[in-house]
Amino acid sequence: MSAPLVVNTRRGVCWTRRTVTEGGIALYAPVAVRTCPEFVMATLAELAAQGITGSADVLPVPVDPVAAGRGLDLLALMDERAASRVSPVLAGVLDKAEKLRVENGRLRDRIAELEALTPAEIQTCRVCGAGYTYGQPCATCVFRKRMAAERGAGGA
Ligand SMILES: [Zn+2]
Repeated sequence: MSAPLVVNTRRGVCWTRRTVTEGGIALYAPVAVRTCPEFVMATLAELAAQGITGSADVLPVPVDPVAAGRGLDLLALMDERAASRVSPVLAGVLDKAEKLRVENGRLRDRIAELEALTPAEIQTCRVCGAGYTYGQPCATCVFRKRMAAERGAGGA
């Protein structure tokens, strides 16, 4: 078995050997892709066509899979049949990811906006509805608690 365990291609993708076919052909998938169906895996010859910049027989230091995935053109790694099936799904996923990114940014802005607010000096107690000074306990609640304790201690 002379096929390397790790191959780097010119486009900056790091490939790891995932399996070897019955015919003895090593199949590779990008390191960022955890599970990869065999039909989209690449052979060493296909990687050579992309331009191999390095290879090794040991596993690489783990890379940030998200960052590595961003630079990856998955459709370019597939044959046409697979790409035509995966393309609409991928487009949907990317569309959803973009919407989530926008929503995330909107929420971050809202949080920053809320954190920048200064609370009013007089707050409304959520227990009794009376007004109290911000940062202090509610005087009405404190009074009621004390009265209840007095009544309890007095034996009614
Ligand atoms: Zn209160």
